[in-house]
Amino acid sequence: MKKKRIIVLIGSLLLILGVVGVVYFFTRDFSAGESSTPPKTESELLEEKGVVLVNAENFVTNANSLLQKGYSADEVNQIYEYMSEANIESILASDYVDLSEFYMISNFEFAKIERYQAYQELKQIEMKDAVTQVNLNLDEPFYQTIETIEAPSSVTVLVNKSHALPSDYVPDDLVSIPSYPNLLIKEEAATPFENLLAAAKLDNITLIPYSTYRSYAKQKSIYNRYLNQDPKEVVDTYSARPGHSEHQTGLALDIRSTTLSDRLTDSDYAWVLDNSYKYGFIVRYPKDNSTITGYQEEPWHLRYIGVEHATKVHELGITYDEYYDLYLTNR
Ligand SMILES: [Zn+2]
Repeated sequence: MKKKRIIVLIGSLLLILGVVGVVYFFTRDFSAGESSTPPKTESELLEEKGVVLVNAENFVTNANSLLQKGYSADEVNQIYEYMSEANIESILASDYVDLSEFYMISNFEFAKIERYQAYQELKQIEMKDAVTQVNLNLDEPFYQTIETIEAPSSVTVLVNKSHALPSDYVPDDLVSIPSYPNLLIKEEAATPFENLLAAAKLDNITLIPYSTYRSYAKQKSIYNRYLNQDPKEVVDTYSARPGHSEHQTGLALDIRSTTLSDRLTDSDYAWVLDNSYKYGFIVRYPKDNSTITGYQEEPWHLRYIGVEHATKVHELGITYDEYYDLYLTNR
């Protein structure tokens, strides 16, 4: 019996020693590892959470703020992949908002998010279209929000019911159209327009310009004259209020067919629709787009924007208003 007890005792002691040894081994190994590796950086901690690091100023601080606001790592990644810096700043300044339907929309502006949602709900259109249309202030009555154009002499200037030219703006490079000396046009559009007329001629089509540059005062008198014959809401569908006419830029022209006094024949219009972009011109108020442009179809009204942009507008089949918001607006 005594022998057995001693064996059990020795066995127990060995077991305890073994356990202590194992515990010591792991404890020592763990503490040694901790003391030889530097503490994790903020970036590494973010990466561990699934955030993809971006080389941007204040990224670590901003990503952490976004996580604190309730955005998941995936959402932070989406925000940094698709959102402009201005949007990111606005997101940082606000409470959590579900942005999933906006990530891929390049012209999204965070500050307008409630307008987008309300307008999309009202119109039952795709969110990307709601974003563009709200950016163009189409969720408001025409002429409600009006911005004064800062670069009126730009060839890509957008003039519409919410973008007005200064009343004293006169282009400083107006020239006569060579074959129509009484008509003034901005210099850069003159040769392209002659090329357009010549190309039409080769297809046996004669296009005649009859209204080109108009001053603010001239547009005012035209608009007021129309007011004598139609109610304002009707006049607004076919005539621009002063400051809102592209004719004041010197980049717009009204053209007619030889047989009509102020219109194009259907066949001449078809030629213009198919060919004007090659010379840098677009039909500015196309069919079925009055909800965007605010005007009835105007086959005769051409606008020069240069070949590159005119070609893209033609290919995309969208209005210039939409094109400008999507591709020519800095955000
Ligand atoms: Zn016109």
